[in-house]
Formats: sequence, C-alpha cells, structure tokens
Amino acid sequence: MSIRAHIDAVYDEVRRRNPGEAEFHQAAAEVLHSLTPALERHPEYAEPGFLERLCEPERQLIFRVPWVDDQGVVRVNRGFRVEFNSALGPYKGGLRFHPSVNLGIVKFLGFEQIFKNALTGLGIGGGKGGSDFDPKGRSDAEVMRFCQSFMTELYRHLGEHTDVPAGDIGVGAREIGYLFGQYKRITNRYEAGVLTGKPVGWGGSHARTEATGYGAVYFAQEMLATRGESFDGRRVVVSGSGNVAVYAVEKVHALGGRVVACSDSSGYLVDDNGIDLDLLKDVKEVRRARLSAYAEARPGAVFSARGTLYDVPCDVALPCATQNELRREDAVSLVKNGVRAVAEGANMPCTPEAVEVFRDAGVLFGPGKAANAGGVATSALEMQQNAARDTWTFDQTESRLATIMRTVHTECRTTADTYAADPDDYVLGANVAGFLRVAEAMTAQGVI
Ligand code: GLU
Repeated sequence: MSIRAHIDAVYDEVRRRNPGEAEFHQAAAEVLHSLTPALERHPEYAEPGFLERLCEPERQLIFRVPWVDDQGVVRVNRGFRVEFNSALGPYKGGLRFHPSVNLGIVKFLGFEQIFKNALTGLGIGGGKGGSDFDPKGRSDAEVMRFCQSFMTELYRHLGEHTDVPAGDIGVGAREIGYLFGQYKRITNRYEAGVLTGKPVGWGGSHARTEATGYGAVYFAQEMLATRGESFDGRRVVVSGSGNVAVYAVEKVHALGGRVVACSDSSGYLVDDNGIDLDLLKDVKEVRRARLSAYAEARPGAVFSARGTLYDVPCDVALPCATQNELRREDAVSLVKNGVRAVAEGANMPCTPEAVEVFRDAGVLFGPGKAANAGGVATSALEMQQNAARDTWTFDQTESRLATIMRTVHTECRTTADTYAADPDDYVLGANVAGFLRVAEAMTAQGVI
C-alpha cells in the first residue's frame, strides 16, 4: 500500500470509530494529510498500528458533575478529560467550560495539543478536558460549587507527573483557584504543579495570563519579518475579547500596530482610533459585560450585532475566538481587502476552506498549533518554577516566551523547507515537526 493510501485508510478508520465527532475528524485530517513527506523519509512510522496508536487517546474520561444552584435546584453537567498522549511528558492541556463542549470537541483539542506541546520542546504530553457547564450568568458561588464537584471526580486522575490541566474558554484564574482548592483539600497535598494558570501570588507564573496573546503576536511578527515587514503602523483585527484576544491587542499596540476591531458572541466592535485596552479589560474582565457596553462608553466606536469583523479592512488578522469561526467567505473578504498575514490565537479558528483561500492568495498563515503555543509553553515554565519552588520575574519569563516563539517559528519554516521545499507552509512545518518529536518518543517507549 502506498503511504498516501495508508494515511487515507487510517483517516477512514478514525471517522468510523469516532462517529459524529466532526471537529476531531477535521483536526485528524489536517495532521494526517500533511504527514506524507514525513512518512516517506521515515517509513517506520508508516508501519501498521503506528498512526492508529497516535489517533487513539491513551485514556478518555467522561463523568457526571452534579451541583446545586443558588435556588437550591440540582443541576447535572457532563465532565470530560481526554488523556491523549504521554510520550513526551505528563498530559498537559486546558479545561474548557462552555455549552458546546462534547467528547468530539475535547478530542480535537487534545489531538491538537499533542503536536503543539511537542513543538514547544518542553517535555509535555497532550490532553484536554472540560464540561458543557456554562459559567455565563452564574454567580461566583455557583461556579465554585461546580468546580468543586468537577474536581471531586477528576482529582484521582491528576498529578504533577500524571496530568496537569489549565484554563481554556470559560476557565480563568477564578476557576483554577476553586479547582486547586478542592484538589488540595481532597489529597491533603499542596501540589502546586498539578494545575497551571494559577494567580501569581500563590504558585502562578508571571506572564502566563498574557502568554497566549503575546505569543501569537510574536509569531505573526516573525512571519511578517520574513517579508521585511513589521506591525508598525499596521491595521489589525482580533476576533474574540477573552484572555487571548485582550493580550494580543496589548502586544500589537506595544509593537506600533493598531487593533481596529474585536468581537464577542453578541457581535463585533470597530474602533478606528485603536481599541482602548483599559476600557476593553474593564468591560470584559471586571464587568463581564457585552461589547456593546464598550461602544456606549467610547465616542467613535461602533458595535454591530450582525455581520462579521472580517469585513473590516486590515493588514493582519488574529482569530482569537473559537474553532471554525473564520470561514471561506471571511477569508475571501480578508484577501480582497489586502490582508498580509493571519495567525491563529484560538485553536483551529479557520476552516480548511479558509486556509485554502489564504494559501492560494499567498497570505502568510500561522496555524494555532504553532502560533498559540505560547500559552502552554508558559504553563510548562510555571511547572518548572513550581518544581524548583522558585519564582521568576515578569521580564525573565516573557523573554523565555519570546525565545520559544521564535524557535517554534524557525522550526516550522526549516521543517517545511526540508519536507516540502516551501518554508512558508507553516501548516505542514508545524504538523511534521511536532509529529517527529512525538513519534520518536513513542517508538522508543515500545508498543504501549
Ligand atoms: N488551553 C491552552 C491551549 O489551548 C493552554 C493549555 C495549558 O496551558 O495547559 O493551549
């Protein structure tokens, strides 16, 4: 069987064994179909059973999460943790609390995480988890009771050497605090390295909050530099307005660019004078309000409940909201308006059709596995500090992050050049570079 036929057969089997999990199929297809040149050079990874092992999580947990709301009514949610691959280190990846969470979503995120984490070069395996719990509109007390119930089941599967969750959509410092408190109470251990994304005052790392957004901007900066360009004076759109988006805006402004639009689930905002970051943080992080509150407080800013921010002309687009938010027609509109580079701050925000449009138009495209690796990389730095009972300064940590992002960028380009004679193919570069690291470790560790 040819390598291509083997890959197709593995992919068909993934679809057959995981029915209805569209996002997982999509993530698997993207990786598998870029591996042909890697398997041609390393036929041992095309042996029967190897890719099949890679696509099958080591362990998948699904559990009931009962909790009591403020009215005394019992609620039941579903909890997940997919421990996908531990060849390079303990399972590592965030928890997502959002009503859209199901096994297929967690599996797609866990699968992506394997290669992303490998790319950082930091000794972390891949996993992901979460729940269909919706924290929106819930009181602090309800969020706390939910987190405690969630951890009461999950704690038995975690440990600083086993599985180390962090945040993702709907899980920030508040949730990490409640989860950690319950883990500590049940295990009677102050095991700081069991969760990352902790506040700086008790075991968290400086720059972790900023890391995903900053890292995505560093990655885009490196991409632009390959064409002799920079952020200076550039118009930028950043979708989303959560943790990743906010700190992407901050770094773009620090580098002399101007973010003119951002969004949330209620619509999008255009502010041609450049997004006012203090106001954005106040609206989204303090008041937990909708973006229309920003427009009400800022003369000249316009909020639209309909349409898309990808119709706003820009030089750089940073999709930082959620999966499959940037579709073919959005990509066409961005290209028509002259976009130069797109870097994914979220996980898989661009559909395969959109990526195709960017590729055909020669737009620099940084896939999430590489471009948003700064968050989990800084989580690994948090684990290092916890293990050493040490705290680094903000500058120390941020400069490590910047170096990691530059290294990831270079590795994507050199791998793409070596395996496809096209250094601009960051998708292939990221997938192959991550895969080779994981594959080597899996092979050395035997059939497990
Ligand atoms: N959820 C983030 C990601 O998608 C961070 C994971 C972590 O820090 O473990 O990479």
